[in-house]
Amino acid sequence: MSCIFCKIAGKEVKSSIVLESGTVMAFDDISPQAPVHVVIIPKEHITSVAGLNGIVQEMFKAAIKVAKAKGVDSSGYRMVMNSGSDAGQAVEHMHFHLIGGRKLVWPPG
Ligand code: 5GP
Ligand code: ZN
Repeated sequence: MSCIFCKIAGKEVKSSIVLESGTVMAFDDISPQAPVHVVIIPKEHITSVAGLNGIVQEMFKAAIKVAKAKGVDSSGYRMVMNSGSDAGQAVEHMHFHLIGGRKLVWPPG
């Protein structure tokens, strides 16, 4: 499996892990777009929203914990999921970005 996020989940590729459960992993983005930028993934390889199962609830639970751990639960944060080429999904392993720590513009590009 050549998927970078599977390698991160399997710890073949090092990352700054923010949170890990049996099913979900959260790690700091390598190219942060805000002071807080965490990627939240299912450990299982799911390509996009088309492959969804009960994992999304686990990912949201993780996101709430990540926001607290990163100190943005009160100031606010945004969760973004890019799906497909028009949205710029670069890694085809479903993931949320959790971004915060600065005022975010709306709408996003
Ligand atoms: P996408 O464009 O697919 O929604 O987002 C993929 C994200 O994964 C990007 O923000 C990118 O910076 C991040 N990323 C890609 N490769 C790595 C990596 O090896 N390590 C970490 N920590 N983040 C990565
Ligand atoms: Zn994968």
